Amino acid sequence: MKMKLGLALISFMACSAFAEVGPSFKVLLRKDGSYKTYYTKVEMPDLESNNSFDGKYFKVVKGKDKEAVSFDEKDELLLLKAANVYYHLNQARDFWVNQIQSEKAKTLPKVTVRLDIFNQYDELGHFAHDNRNPQYNNALSVPEGETPAWVPGERQDKWGNEIWFRPKKVISTKELGPMGPNPLTVGLMALEQPLLSYMQNQFNQRLMQQFFYPAYVARPLHEDLIRYAGTFALMKVIMYGSKYADSLFIDKYYYLDTAMIPEIAYHEYSHLILSDYLAMSHSTPVNEGMADYFAAVQSKKRKIYGKVSGFSNSAPKDTQEKRLYSHWDESNRYATADFTLSVLWDVRETLGEEVGDKVVYQARKYLTTSTSTISHGLLKAILKACDDVCEYPRRDKLKLYSTFGRKGF
Ligand SMILES: [Zn+2]
Repeated sequence: MKMKLGLALISFMACSAFAEVGPSFKVLLRKDGSYKTYYTKVEMPDLESNNSFDGKYFKVVKGKDKEAVSFDEKDELLLLKAANVYYHLNQARDFWVNQIQSEKAKTLPKVTVRLDIFNQYDELGHFAHDNRNPQYNNALSVPEGETPAWVPGERQDKWGNEIWFRPKKVISTKELGPMGPNPLTVGLMALEQPLLSYMQNQFNQRLMQQFFYPAYVARPLHEDLIRYAGTFALMKVIMYGSKYADSLFIDKYYYLDTAMIPEIAYHEYSHLILSDYLAMSHSTPVNEGMADYFAAVQSKKRKIYGKVSGFSNSAPKDTQEKRLYSHWDESNRYATADFTLSVLWDVRETLGEEVGDKVVYQARKYLTTSTSTISHGLLKAILKACDDVCEYPRRDKLKLYSTFGRKGF
């Protein structure tokens, strides 16, 4: 016994002499099987620097900075967010390399991650001017780019793939506009599901024009084309509201600190990986649904992007959203809804996890970035992808047809 213990001790010492143990920091995790959160200290993987969040695959900076956030950062919240995104983005890379076996993830050059950046993204100059309509409560991935030669010298810039997490800003939901009348009464709930969905969609549409557009329509076109992770949460507040159509059910305030929501890191990283076929610069229900799907697979939760105390009060997206298809789901305004996610999730449940993930991943090759609809483009892409990767395509496509039928297509 003593001998064994001695051996164990020696082998332990040998291991620890070789295994490099990186510094540990506090991050936010969700509990298994729920979306409750807790904080714990974890080791920061694959660091290249010994004093800042600069690693093999990710470098985390503040705003427009070039240098990574230091381990000695005095702003505790910034330190927490830096550790959190660094950890979760490395988890996302690990997922794509090992579980999905993505070549793109294996070879992707180091990604710059920006925290608390409020500047708009400018395709020609990287960062728009500081005072031009600052952005809050969302995240986006930015494709690599370069300023053209005609841009003045001091604005010349060149950048690789980046992920931006915007600062949190508490917005009063009242500022978004009055709630209007309440058409969805208990009586309506007794109606047939298709009619209810139709009315709900009509109502959402009207609500969105009423609240959502006046505040945001002023945004310049290029930023409009970049998909948001943050905006969806705002939409969810509104859609959640329309479900109950009563201001009593709506939170007084809306806020979202995207750097603290693990699945938003997974979602944004998915956009980078899927960009071998799906350009990052389009926010469509199909593009967003694809990124949501892989965020959900990685997080192993039924609902993703759920509330995080102090950081987000937005409603989650549900992989098992039961609503039936309506043509409103094709509207880019619905890029933030969970309908596409639920369609893709049904594919996974029909074909099994392993084949389902392969089919959804393969489907990106048959999608066009800006014009693919759910009812036509996406379903067709999934069936084609099944031809490529399903074991028994004829049988499995029949199964998929009936799944799509149950979803209202
Ligand atoms: Zn997105």
